[in-house]
Amino acid sequence: MDFRDSESHAALRAEARAFLDAHAPDPYEMYGDDPLNASNIEAHRAWQKTQHAHGWAGLTWPEAFGGRGLGPIEQIIFNQECARRELGLTMFMPGLCMVGPTIIAHGTEEQKQRYLGPLLAGDEVWCQLFSEPSAGSDLAGIGCRAERDGDTWVINGQKTWSSGAADSDYGILLCRTDPTVPKHEGITYFLLPMDTPGIEVRPIRQMNDGDHFADTFLNDVRIPDSCRLGEVNGGWACAMTTLMNERIGMGGMESFRFDDLAALVRERRDRIDPVTRDRIVKVWGWGKTLELLNARIVTKLGMGVMPDAESSVMKLAIARLMSEAADMGLRVLGPEALGRQGTWQNQFLFAPAMHVAGGTDEIQKNVAAERTLGMPKEPRTDRGVAFEDLPRG
Ligand SMILES: Cc1cc2nc3c(=O)[nH]c(=O)nc-3n(C[C@H](O)[C@H](O)[C@H](O)COP(=O)(O)OP(=O)(O)OC[C@H]3O[C@@H](n4cnc5c(N)ncnc54)[C@H](O)[C@@H]3O)c2cc1C
Repeated sequence: MDFRDSESHAALRAEARAFLDAHAPDPYEMYGDDPLNASNIEAHRAWQKTQHAHGWAGLTWPEAFGGRGLGPIEQIIFNQECARRELGLTMFMPGLCMVGPTIIAHGTEEQKQRYLGPLLAGDEVWCQLFSEPSAGSDLAGIGCRAERDGDTWVINGQKTWSSGAADSDYGILLCRTDPTVPKHEGITYFLLPMDTPGIEVRPIRQMNDGDHFADTFLNDVRIPDSCRLGEVNGGWACAMTTLMNERIGMGGMESFRFDDLAALVRERRDRIDPVTRDRIVKVWGWGKTLELLNARIVTKLGMGVMPDAESSVMKLAIARLMSEAADMGLRVLGPEALGRQGTWQNQFLFAPAMHVAGGTDEIQKNVAAERTLGMPKEPRTDRGVAFEDLPRG
């Protein structure tokens, strides 16, 4: 198998490298050790504006909405080049990877004209208000209510783990609009202005001292029907578009670079015993295996086929690799790791989140078991049962 870029992909990669060589900021100057910390929002915005000004924002978006009309492989190539410079993570990710493609697929012409431009230009930040205290893996079990009052919707409920909510101008919001039908059929999707009265965002302090996500409380929040995306009670289909695009957008955004670990190991040769050496080689081997899996996903996308269980295996393996690499980093640092600040310390404290965000390890294993290994589906007791009749925690 030949994993080299085609001629046109090589040309795009060269173009991307030239742009990044000339304009990419130093990630450490920009963000410090924790790229997603809320205090870094203006740095993210400035970088988004630079990308937009040079035609590198929204590569897969139609040209009519400011994009370049390219395919997912081109986006992955750009993501890979950004990741090489440790610029892979961005607070604009929910907007660019999830919100934009969902509005393009399901929005009215008016919504496309209103929201897509400012998002791409870095003027408006978006967050994702999907998860709730009792609905994460089982996203269709959301309880946040939206009730119609003429041309207005009145929203009451709580969302949680909303990344970047404290700094966002808009949120994509899933609400229960009909509890009398089965859970997937009574959900509506909204585009919520975050400055609407009745919204309270309370940042959640993380164990790495960051506060990049928040609890969001909605108390009698009134929004016009023009904020609805898609059909009333048709929100699940829009949510699927969002989640599918999250996977594509994340492709190539490697959050671990073996070179960093190798550099640390070279610096601290005195601390490398045979057991550590063995584990480092294993990390390198996993990294190489993931590169091949990624190539397989890219090949599928190139053939116009959506990756399926490969994305779940990839997500599972990346989380495991990040945890192991962070552990190795601390081991090599030794007593120095006891200091609170530092890249490896931060990675060690953030790595557990990778096993949960975007679908937990167990959920990814279920997907891989069912779709790759052909194992029986999980038993479901909620099929055909009205949401209001389901037992709830
Ligand atoms: C860093 C980070 C950022 C996030 N950002 C956002 C965001 O911006 N917006 C947003 O809406 N959400 C966000 N989330 C939330 C995330 O989507 C959820 O945490 C995730 O879907 C899991 O849901 P939960 O936390 O409710 O856990 P639960 O679903 O309650 O799971 C609890 C445990 O039960 C296991 N489990 C659940 N169901 C099954 C099953 N069927 N089979 C086997 N095991 C099962 C899980 O694996 C887990 O171990 C973020 C999370 C993290 C960590």
